[in-house]
Amino acid sequence: MSQQAEQVKTSMGGCDHNDESLTRNEKLVVDVLSREDGPMKAYELLAALKDKGVKAPMTVYRALDRLEAKGLVHKLDGINAFVICNHDEPHRVQIFLICTNCSHVEEVREHDVANLDWNTISKLGDPIGFKAEATRIEVRGTCAKCQET
Ligand SMILES: [Zn+2]
Ligand SMILES: [Zn+2]
Repeated sequence: MSQQAEQVKTSMGGCDHNDESLTRNEKLVVDVLSREDGPMKAYELLAALKDKGVKAPMTVYRALDRLEAKGLVHKLDGINAFVICNHDEPHRVQIFLICTNCSHVEEVREHDVANLDWNTISKLGDPIGFKAEATRIEVRGTCAKCQET
């Protein structure tokens, strides 16, 4: 689990005012994603949150949008699923290793990698006046477990 998620979890244990930056729904989503060892689709999150009183898909989508903006959660466009961030701080370069066999996703962890060459990447749009905000790299392949079998 990432330190960010750990902090969120810790603050959940005590009094809610400790972490006013996250709404109740956002905390619930972070909690479920932190316990899951891998990506989750929005409808899976919704199913997991049903007994917590979260019943509207929009509630989950809104929480995911905000968590993504805060850098706590990443969306994997290629497989249309969400993972908890394993970095301590929001980072602009996000790299994921995705197993095409079992769908396991590992976020590349090293902090340096998280900011890998952002200077170069962010300037790619300069000639047409495009303002870059972040980039996400999805590396496809086979995880160690799947190579064994
Ligand atoms: Zn991350
Ligand atoms: Zn695999």
